[in-house]
This record gives sequence, structure tokens and C-alpha cells, in this order.
Amino acid sequence: MKTIGLIGGMSWESSAEYYRIINEEIKKKLGGLHSAKCLLYSVNFKEIEHFQSEGAWNKAGKTLGEAARSLEKAGADFIVICTNTMHKVISDIQAMITIPILHIADATADQMNRQDIRSAGLLGTKYTMEQNFYKTRIETHGINIIVPNDNERELINNIIYQELCLGEIKQSSKNIYHTIINNLMNRGAEGIILGCTEIGLLVKAEDFKVPIFDTTLIHAREAVNKSLSISS
Ligand code: GLU
Repeated sequence: MKTIGLIGGMSWESSAEYYRIINEEIKKKLGGLHSAKCLLYSVNFKEIEHFQSEGAWNKAGKTLGEAARSLEKAGADFIVICTNTMHKVISDIQAMITIPILHIADATADQMNRQDIRSAGLLGTKYTMEQNFYKTRIETHGINIIVPNDNERELINNIIYQELCLGEIKQSSKNIYHTIINNLMNRGAEGIILGCTEIGLLVKAEDFKVPIFDTTLIHAREAVNKSLSISS
């Protein structure tokens, strides 16, 4: 079993999910008392969020690169960045280490391709929905991305930073997400990407007619496959 190096704390609410899912998957695959070999470097999200809102992505990349380097030194075999948004600086992080990083968008796109999804609605932070680093990465796998409109993007983003990252789960916000997902389906989305690692705390796949791709679940499961050298 390879050791998974998790860069977490963005937010810790979702990092806790990664830890739970990874261990559940190891137990499911190996049984009994087996559990994951993993290391977690959990950052102070306030510092990262400050860099994001200032547009100081190079500083954020350096901070996360240093976290990755610590994980490599401590014995991690590969890195999992437990947030979609911070994949914006994946090349800065990769440049500081010699072990590979398991990209969340690649893992998600592979899963969508296995289910023959050709167009997907994307929910995430404003950075993920509006900038190219994430959408383009998914689109290189042959999947068309549909983003929510301006007003919807603002609602989605505010709920992420003002509620979900603080552990607040509200029925009113769930209703807003449901409406937006239905709008994306009406615009032709064959599937929906929960492209922010906290959204799975609010939105449940069984409530929708189209497949829901929860990036936390997919990324954590893929990390287990890589740890056990299973090809999916
Ligand atoms: N966890 C979130 C994501 O997956 C947002 C927090 C962040 O800005 O990193 O994008």
C-alpha cells in the first residue's frame, strides 16, 4: 500500500470527508482492520482564502508547495490536493516536489467518460466556474462544460465560503442549489459536477435524475485505487 499525502484544510470540513471516505474504501477493499496509510498537512484556510481574494496565486502556490514538500519528506508517495479551486496552482506545487499529484479534474472526467457523459454542469467557487484552469482540463477529456449564469454563480460561491466552509448546512441553500442544478439540466447538462469539495455536504446524488459527480468522493476513491495500484 502506497502512502497518500493529503493537502487539506481548504476547508477542514471537506478534508474530514476525504479522511473518512479513504479509510472506508480501504476497509471495503481489504476488509477487517485495514486502514489507509496517509499523511495530512492541513493549512490555515484563512491565509489561503486571503491569497485567493487578493489574486496572490503565486503566494498560495508557494504555501501549498511547501506543504507538499513536507509530505514528500515525511514519506508520501503521491499528493492529493483536497480542493478543486487550488488546482489552479498545481504546476507551482508540482515544481516543488518529485512525487506525482493526482488531479481532481482528471479523476472526475475519467468517471464521467466511463458513464458516457458528454456535457456537464459545473458547480464550484467563482474561480473554478469562471476561470479556465478547471473547465479546460475537463474539456480536454472530451466533455463540454456548462456554467451557471452570473447570478447563480454568485449565489453558489457565497454559499460555499459563507456557509459550507464553516460547516453550516441550510435547507434554504439546498433549495437554491437544487434550482440551479435543474436549470443546468434544462440547458442540456447530462450530468452535474460538484466541483467544490464541500458541496457534497449539501447536495445528495439520489435527489436528481441525472448522474451527480461528487469530486470529493471520486478523488478520494481514486486516491485509494492509486494507493493500492488498482487501475479503474
Ligand atoms: N473546497 C473548495 C473547492 O473544492 C473551496 C475552498 C477553496 O477555495 O479551496 O474548491
